[in-house]
Amino acid sequence: MESKKSIFQTKILESEEKKATNSLSLFPREEYEQVISRLNELKQYNPTKTKLDYRLLQKYEILEVTIEGTTVQKLQKKDTQLRFICAEDVFDVLVAIHRIMGLGGRTSMCKATKEKYANISRDQITLFFQYCEECQLKKSSVRKCVVVKPIVSKSMNSRALVDLIDMQSQPDGKYRFIFNYQDHSTKMICLRALQTKTAEEVAIHLVDIFCDKGALIFFNLTMGENFQIR
Ligand SMILES: [Zn+2]
Repeated sequence: MESKKSIFQTKILESEEKKATNSLSLFPREEYEQVISRLNELKQYNPTKTKLDYRLLQKYEILEVTIEGTTVQKLQKKDTQLRFICAEDVFDVLVAIHRIMGLGGRTSMCKATKEKYANISRDQITLFFQYCEECQLKKSSVRKCVVVKPIVSKSMNSRALVDLIDMQSQPDGKYRFIFNYQDHSTKMICLRALQTKTAEEVAIHLVDIFCDKGALIFFNLTMGENFQIR
């Protein structure tokens, strides 16, 4: 989990750096702490403010959170209840929300994060899904379950396979094909010699076999690769 988390972290910071500097809203913990301490300084000593200070004051306010008896300062979007988190925390926050929602999908994750956080974007959530181990496992186990369901025939004469064996290189007089009829359920085989592989000739032999062995009303005939109706 740790390595996926660090790759994720690098990627979200990289994409943040590509944006215009004044719209940055995600940064590493160190910078996050610097913003908090600068805001504290501004509040306590009221020094001469720089352009950046005005921007900070416009964007952020400090929120005090008590976690297990200790009070911690966090950044909150001014005049809202939306919290800013640092890049190191995005992954863990997303994992926690994702689990609470029973491995919730992207839309529900976006909705949930928007209600509480100011700087988790849709792109970050999309990226998160690539690194969520549980989702990857779920996907691969679903893929493993896809198996071809075998056809089961319960009774004789309900399904059969017909194929023609091409004997044109070694014909026996006028006969150039072996007609191979196999019952799907019992595997019983009927063989006939054919002069051509036309539908008419094949049909004559099928009728012969049906009359001989009997056929169910819902007859399922599977034609082999070599079988052509002309
Ligand atoms: Zn997941």
